[in-house]
Amino acid sequence: MAPTMHRSVCPYDCPDTCGLLVTVSGGRATAVQGDPEHPHSRGTLCPKMTHYEQTVHSPRRLTTPLLATGPKGGGAFAPISWEEAAQRIAERWKAIIAGHGAQAILPYSAGGTMGLVQRNCGHAFFHRLGASRLDRTICSPAKGEGWKAVMGRTPALDPDTVLDSDLVLLWGCNALATTLHGFQRARQARRAGARVWLIDTYHTATAASVDRTFVVRPGSDGALALGLMHLLVRDGLHDPAFLAAQAQGFQELAERVLPQYPPERVAALTGLPVQALEELAQAYGRARAPFILLGSGLSRYGNGAMNVRAITCLPAVTGAWARPGGGAFKGVDDAGGFDLAQVTREDFQAAPVRTVNMNRLGHALGELDAPRVMGLYVYHSNPAAVAPDQNAVLRGLSRTDLFTVVHERFLTDTARYADLVLPATSSLEHSDLYRGGGSYCIQRARPAIPAVGESRSNWQAFQTLAEAMGFTEPYFRQSADELIDRLLDTPSPRRDGLDREAFETGRAAALRPPAPGTWLTPSGRIELLNPALDPPLPGYFPRHAEAEDLPFSLMTGPALFSLNSSFQERDALRERAGGMRLLMNPDDAREQGLADGQAVLAANPRGEVRFQLETTERAPRGVVVAEGVWWLAFAPGDRTVNALTSQRLTDQGGGSTFYDNRVEVRSAG
Ligand code: SF4
Repeated sequence: MAPTMHRSVCPYDCPDTCGLLVTVSGGRATAVQGDPEHPHSRGTLCPKMTHYEQTVHSPRRLTTPLLATGPKGGGAFAPISWEEAAQRIAERWKAIIAGHGAQAILPYSAGGTMGLVQRNCGHAFFHRLGASRLDRTICSPAKGEGWKAVMGRTPALDPDTVLDSDLVLLWGCNALATTLHGFQRARQARRAGARVWLIDTYHTATAASVDRTFVVRPGSDGALALGLMHLLVRDGLHDPAFLAAQAQGFQELAERVLPQYPPERVAALTGLPVQALEELAQAYGRARAPFILLGSGLSRYGNGAMNVRAITCLPAVTGAWARPGGGAFKGVDDAGGFDLAQVTREDFQAAPVRTVNMNRLGHALGELDAPRVMGLYVYHSNPAAVAPDQNAVLRGLSRTDLFTVVHERFLTDTARYADLVLPATSSLEHSDLYRGGGSYCIQRARPAIPAVGESRSNWQAFQTLAEAMGFTEPYFRQSADELIDRLLDTPSPRRDGLDREAFETGRAAALRPPAPGTWLTPSGRIELLNPALDPPLPGYFPRHAEAEDLPFSLMTGPALFSLNSSFQERDALRERAGGMRLLMNPDDAREQGLADGQAVLAANPRGEVRFQLETTERAPRGVVVAEGVWWLAFAPGDRTVNALTSQRLTDQGGGSTFYDNRVEVRSAG
């Protein structure tokens, strides 16, 4: 039979939500390429999704349910049927509920798939079960809180306005790794004459493609923003007319806060020379339309929300919002305006239950009581690798009295600790509805190929478990497509003008972004002073790790060839990544008596991880960098980078603090 072509969507935790064209032959995906008609990604994919068919048909794919036949973590399993697996799970959960209460069961999921139905349908099941709730805050809730402090619920501006900018600041944004198509737009602006500058904690891969890079001390971004505002006001580069008409609290900010951030102090806090601060302030203040593309990493510190809050004040101080191409973009939260409650079904939760912060899984499994967590169900996430404080997580997963079920495509680090593993579909095998985080695109995807082996989608797995548990709600008997239809049939002004007919053929739709210039804050103005918060004005305070007496700040940055712990199943991508390395400045290495290429141990009170050392000027003095999250199976030692990260939380939002840790580094001997 001749090959057929199908439209689909990249399902991963990336703002670009690229459109895919999938070639199918004999029921198998034989090629995956970018969809040139996708309004945002326009036919290009990152290296991870190029050859996605190799993930979909990987020899590592799980094809049947598996029952553990050996000790936890050992990876010994025997195939069983879905019917037997569902029966075993239901029996065990009913026993846990009878003995400890339903809150002794904890769901755990994150961003393995970002489609609205497959990602969120488990909420309804666990609400119905009465299980503990999971606070899904591993990514960047502090970024949202910092933004909200100033901008309230103001929707994101059209990210394509960057094309009209004359100065693009990539702030804490390794755009080449995390938003390739956002970066393409910035480079397009550059070709039209804009300067593209980067502010980050080390010379990331993106640094090679920008005009200038400013390397700041980890966690000092907020101090930099306050210092820039000090200079802008000192030099009269602020916009009094805009501030008077559109902002609240400028006078208080200028009188009470900014005098505390003179260039000498900000230089000491950020590590930037005074001259660089002056140049940055001049460039930002004199640009016609400066555009800040805000990354997420700078929010993953104990002062993360405050960092973002201070940066978010900048475009108001210069009045950049008023000029096409000016402003700041932190991501689109609600493209499509979908009523997700139809999927998550809060109404299924009969009584209040406790909430467990996902960044504190180690604590939850090891120390939480009343009731102790006795059942764990993990889906589209790999917490043994991605959750902070890996040793605490692995201790918890090793508990012989913990009943763990993992629904996955591969035998991940977490799946190896499961009592039961259920095989999951890839995004090419199930229906879903996607919305972009880096654009206002939405897209519907239907299966391009049949399920591989006996794998089932998240929704199908929860339908199976609902039946085994005796849930009779009609909700659990709908198909995924019926759920998607409900979301689409519920009107929203965000979808006004959507060509539903074209949309139903699988084409992405670019929704019209909200008109700029309306501030959805309690005051109706940009809130440089927010009286509802403590403190009401932005400021700077140190991150957690300043209190750790160890020589190096550890940056756990994103990688080009993996995304969180996804794509480790692809040998070729791991080879391109070049192994699990620790980047260190050559002068630091010399002082430590370490040499390029040697095996080293990075250590702190939480753990010890073996890396191959790479000495490079990309890492500034005092900072070491470990990019990507590796599976234990492919690590040079028995732990990966999150054995060094902590369960501490951000100042607001309960977020992760992956970048807020210190380590020592020594020879592995
Ligand atoms: S990971 Fe991001 S850039 Fe890569 S294909 Fe998916 S959405 Fe596009």
